[in-house]
Amino acid sequence: MNKTGYIYDPIYLEHETGSHPENAGRLEAINRRLQGSDIFPHLQQPAPRKATVEEIALNHEAGYVQQVSEACANGVSNLDGDTVISANSYEAALMSAGAGLTGVDLILDGTLDNAFCAVRPPGHHAENSMAMGFCLFNNVAIAARYAIEKKDLNRVFVFDWDVHHGNGTQHSFYSDANIYYSSCHQYPFYPGTGAKEETGTGDGLGATLNFPLREYSTDDDYLALVKDKLIPAMFRFKPELIILSAGFDAHRDDPLAGMQVSTECYGTMTELIRSAAQEICQGRLLSMLEGGYDTHALADSVHAHLKNLLS
Ligand SMILES: [Zn+2]
Repeated sequence: MNKTGYIYDPIYLEHETGSHPENAGRLEAINRRLQGSDIFPHLQQPAPRKATVEEIALNHEAGYVQQVSEACANGVSNLDGDTVISANSYEAALMSAGAGLTGVDLILDGTLDNAFCAVRPPGHHAENSMAMGFCLFNNVAIAARYAIEKKDLNRVFVFDWDVHHGNGTQHSFYSDANIYYSSCHQYPFYPGTGAKEETGTGDGLGATLNFPLREYSTDDDYLALVKDKLIPAMFRFKPELIILSAGFDAHRDDPLAGMQVSTECYGTMTELIRSAAQEICQGRLLSMLEGGYDTHALADSVHAHLKNLLS
């Protein structure tokens, strides 16, 4: 059995968003599902640390970090049309990014083989100096930059299976040869980016790989893509760490998107990627929650994900 981390902090519940689909009930549902399950005693549960402003600034303009901090302190209720904030959202966002840094630290020092960070606010739509799509700071991008710049890794592979394209993550690494970004997503769909012709630029040309998928794509579509396209790309790139932007909103029960993915398929995709990580990078796999808005489907899918990270 793997040493698998479940990284969570109650401060994530204090990012209050009211009746917004991205709300604290998502993490409460995940915790309830896991606590009643047979895998829970086998999960290691390290406490995350808060990311520092300097660590957030590995991927964001320092002025933007300040702007988010002040907006929360001043009672601003929205950073953009979709992105609701409350008084403690800044602190929750620092801890959300910090979970990824804790995961990187513990995976690289061998304390954990892999980890899932049950965090909110999510991150993959957040741009360098702009909140977007429920996201304040780009948790996965910050973790990837931290691994390269502070932990001296040379190659990190980010795979994003959230149903939406991770525009923020792609833009962060579009000209970067050291951080590979691949995404499968409903297309055309929010946020509009992620065409297959978007493959990187300059030094990063060929280190962006998009799989736009039509609405109603199935388990078979996803599994074929992972087996035949994604995993071969991972083997070619030879990353030292794989980071997963794990949204579960391609689930067939999700209210925000139109895909047909089953709970079991999330388990199978996890198994395929975990096995590849074992061959490529000693199993080093960090997964961070992005979307997933049907709380039952989300909780069951996270359970299937963690069960396969453990095995
Ligand atoms: Zn999403």
